[in-house]
Amino acid sequence: MNECVDCAAALEHCHGTVVLHEDGGTAECTEPGCRDVDPTRHALVICCDQFMGECCADLAPVEYARAG
Ligand SMILES: [Zn+2]
Ligand SMILES: [Zn+2]
Ligand SMILES: [Zn+2]
Repeated sequence: MNECVDCAAALEHCHGTVVLHEDGGTAECTEPGCRDVDPTRHALVICCDQFMGECCADLAPVEYARAG
């Protein structure tokens, strides 16, 4: 029913969504079993502020201020 092109081709990939953090390239996947959070293995990649609203966009300036 929900046939995926990559599944049909037996390619190694993930159906989760990669969330890219802007705090230095950290990434995570919404799929708990995902072991390789490489954006190229995922059909959907979003920024953390789109996903969580308040993430690196708010945290990073505070950390930079502390460090400086
Ligand atoms: Zn697939
Ligand atoms: Zn973030
Ligand atoms: Zn994944």
